[in-house]
Amino acid sequence: MSSISILENLKRLGISTENNGTSTGLEFFSSGQNIDSFSPVDGNKIASVKISDSADYEKVVAKAQEAYREFRQVPSPKRGDLVRQFGNKLREYKDDLGKLVSYEMGKSLQEGLGEVQEMIDICDFAVGLSRQLHGYTMHSERPGHRMYEQYHPLGIVGVISAFNFPVAVWSWNAALAWICGNVVVWKPSEKTPLCAIACQNIFAEVARENGLPEGISSLVIADHEIGDKLVNDKRIALVSFTGSTRVGRIVGKNVAERFGKSILELGGNNAIIITENADLNMSIIGAVFGAVGTAGQRCTSTRRLIIHESVYDDVKNRLVKAYGQLKIGNPLNETNHVGPLIDKAAVKQYQDSIEKCKSEGGKFIVEGGVLEGENYTSGCYVKPCIAEVENSYEIVQHETFAPILYLIKYKTLEEAIAIQNDVPQGLSSAIMTQNLREAELFLSNGGSDCGIANVNIGTSGAEIGGAFGGEKETGGGRESGSDVWKYYMRRQTNTINYTTSLPLAQGIKFDL
Ligand code: NAD
Repeated sequence: MSSISILENLKRLGISTENNGTSTGLEFFSSGQNIDSFSPVDGNKIASVKISDSADYEKVVAKAQEAYREFRQVPSPKRGDLVRQFGNKLREYKDDLGKLVSYEMGKSLQEGLGEVQEMIDICDFAVGLSRQLHGYTMHSERPGHRMYEQYHPLGIVGVISAFNFPVAVWSWNAALAWICGNVVVWKPSEKTPLCAIACQNIFAEVARENGLPEGISSLVIADHEIGDKLVNDKRIALVSFTGSTRVGRIVGKNVAERFGKSILELGGNNAIIITENADLNMSIIGAVFGAVGTAGQRCTSTRRLIIHESVYDDVKNRLVKAYGQLKIGNPLNETNHVGPLIDKAAVKQYQDSIEKCKSEGGKFIVEGGVLEGENYTSGCYVKPCIAEVENSYEIVQHETFAPILYLIKYKTLEEAIAIQNDVPQGLSSAIMTQNLREAELFLSNGGSDCGIANVNIGTSGAEIGGAFGGEKETGGGRESGSDVWKYYMRRQTNTINYTTSLPLAQGIKFDL
């Protein structure tokens, strides 16, 4: 992308090349030091951003608390109307924001636009939900009593997000948090600050048009130190954290220590089982897209293929052929299949993982490597690669956030399911089969142990209508659709006595 066209893009999104940073929707704070955002696409500096210090953070939280006192009293359908307007604003900015996501993060333009579409979809979902935040009514065991449950907002929801979904993850949280009556403080990844500033600017337009208080949506541009402050801050009722298992372990422990609530969306180690009854054409498309899409930097990326011995060689040969056709290059060019990794540190991790895999006995059937030359000046473009491995290798048990695909052979479906489950993570899983018994066993209580289990679909990508998240070291949290909104509210059971006596529950007598 030429520097002129990205500048126009930034301008429309309210981003200057120098002075951007922490804000509370309408007011902008700018103390602290600068960080520069570089594009992994061409290595160019896009813009400078001011990072927040502790004093900025305090101002943000104070504004958020003030806004919450007002916002919690706005009826939920009216809060839904605000989210509806935000969704419409996103429709207007979809092209600009989608391009910025692609340029700052490095995913393909189609995926950048798809991420903004997910934001629009969750807004639509939240608008409907704003009229459905209902609890149960129960029959009381005491005469003349009524009992029911209701849901109240929590307060401030802190969102800490990862670089790989720089806009969608925030919106999944924010749209639900808002209709539930909460206000949101967002600490995005320091690797994608401009995407966050653009989102905040778009929301600020809606806030201004509605005369809403500052602090319904706030942004703290900062590194892990302020992230840590937010995690340990008792004023933050819920911390929704998306990121690595390593950091999630610290976040989960610290939030629990102060009896706060958390949603943890951590790393995955996702597998597709390809059975002897699979449609192999579908299987190859699902596997290749899952492994190389977003250059293997999705939490749901396919990392392992567990293949029945009878089709193993066929699948292997088809994969080698498919990988030979992959085009690697600028993700804004729609003819390319694979873009760059986020930065050089990610490239180093990719290289180290390949070495570790080889040292453990892995046999590479498609070799990896870092690309050099005119089209790869950022130094972040790598070759997707494939290795034949054992599931027990330490490196296979670990999530490497890069396009490295591991092949594992199996004999019986029970063995394949055991291999699929035998990793610390539990996010996404899939089976490719046209056999009903195989599919049902995979989905049964003795099947996949993941939060997401698909049949004849790869592991990668999900719709916003379902609850999204995973088990074990993936953290156990759920975001997005279904009844996930309940995470963002506190539940209260109410019993009302409309008689003139005071009967006690369980028939207990207490006469004075
Ligand atoms: P990361 O853990 O390095 O960083 C995530 C966020 O945590 C960043 O905003 C970072 O600044 C912040 N952070 C770092 N240390 C912190 C601390 N001590 N306290 C508070 N905040 C801290 O992750 P990443 O490299 O940005 O993202 C990749 C990871 O995210 C992968 O493991 C991927 O699987 C995971 N991910 C999971 C999901 C999911 O839904 N399960 C979705 C997207 C990404």
